[in-house]
Amino acid sequence: MSRGFYIGRFQPYHCGHQSVLEHIAACVDEIVIGVGSAQLSHEVDNPFTAGERVLMITRALEALDRRIYVIPIEDIQRNALWVSHVRSMSPPFSTVYTNNPLVVQLFAETGINVVSPDMYERHTHSGTEIRRRMLNGEAWEHLVPLSVAEVIQEIRGVERLRNIARSD
Ligand code: ATP
Ligand code: MG
Repeated sequence: MSRGFYIGRFQPYHCGHQSVLEHIAACVDEIVIGVGSAQLSHEVDNPFTAGERVLMITRALEALDRRIYVIPIEDIQRNALWVSHVRSMSPPFSTVYTNNPLVVQLFAETGINVVSPDMYERHTHSGTEIRRRMLNGEAWEHLVPLSVAEVIQEIRGVERLRNIARSD
């Protein structure tokens, strides 16, 4: 049984993530998705709770023919211990898929197999760009899976983001 691990903050989960996960699904039997900075929410750079992000990911991957484990992972402020922290929260995995240079470095130092998938239209498909569009009233829905747009609508996510961006 091969298991792959993929981590991000998913603020929000978008079609770039979806494209990487479809690629990973073709390579492994099961996928573990770590929802990083799980303790953060209601911030301009981290508007959604871990639970809301679990909902986005689970719904978006419903059609994928793979068992998926979605695991919230809180930050610890010690990079040297971070891989052990992640491993303690996750089912065992043999390959890590990530483009984040620090994540590559930390896992590579432990000797685990690290793969960096190709970026998918990174210019528009980034959490930062999607949050910017939400704040400015620009179109963003086409950059996320339909099920994710529905979750964000259900939780009134855009309204939340605009409210927390206001100054008093
Ligand atoms: P933010 O701008 O908020 O950092 P992000 O789009 O980078 O959001 P993350 O949750 O930080 O999303 O990223 C999780 C993982 O997905 C990282 O390894 C990141 O490099 C990767 N990733 C992000 N965007 C894309 C994309 N368009 N194509 C492929 N991988 C991506
Ligand atoms: Mg990022």
